Amino acid sequence: MLKSIYCMAAIFVLSACGSNVPVEVQEFKFMIQSDDPAIQETAIALMDQYNEDVGQEVLLLTEYDDEANSFIRFENDLEAQRNILAYGTSIQEMKVSQYPETQSKIVYSMDLLFDTENFASRTGSETDQGSGAWKHLYHLFCHEVGHGLMMNHAQSKESVMYYSIPENSRETVNYKTYFEGVRQFFNIQSHDSGYQPGDDSRLGEEK
Ligand SMILES: [Zn+2]
Repeated sequence: MLKSIYCMAAIFVLSACGSNVPVEVQEFKFMIQSDDPAIQETAIALMDQYNEDVGQEVLLLTEYDDEANSFIRFENDLEAQRNILAYGTSIQEMKVSQYPETQSKIVYSMDLLFDTENFASRTGSETDQGSGAWKHLYHLFCHEVGHGLMMNHAQSKESVMYYSIPENSRETVNYKTYFEGVRQFFNIQSHDSGYQPGDDSRLGEEK
């Protein structure tokens, strides 16, 4: 039974103007917006495992407001009121500097919103990283970060980007294809034989 319902991603598309080719800046500097130490600890653990699975520190952590461009936020009753566990948004901002010469940049960032109660119920000392609660939360986290990296929903039920996941999944989740897409986004060379440079499938089929 499919119980949990994910979000949709909102994507802001900006087109380049001017003659110079914009420089793409893909530095995701996260601030975790929660006062709950258990939630903070779990969010950091999720980021750590994500970076490990990518093979590079692509999600960075900061405690400073003026440094942060991406956020992990929590909202009460997100599931109760909107029937979603989380919501991931990709943000691209065009920034143009005029000095010393006109140079435009596309700065990527993301906003991740989680249902507080669902997230908190899967944190705590009993939640080790082999548990079903952790696997579910990691799946959810990867899915929302995927939206933050401009991924759309996928048709395959095994895909991390399928719109929904079973509460107690015993099915295989296809993280391999997912992280190949993530490495493509960051232009990270993969040692995996399945990696195909130039494959633009991460843009998805949903328009
Ligand atoms: Zn989704």
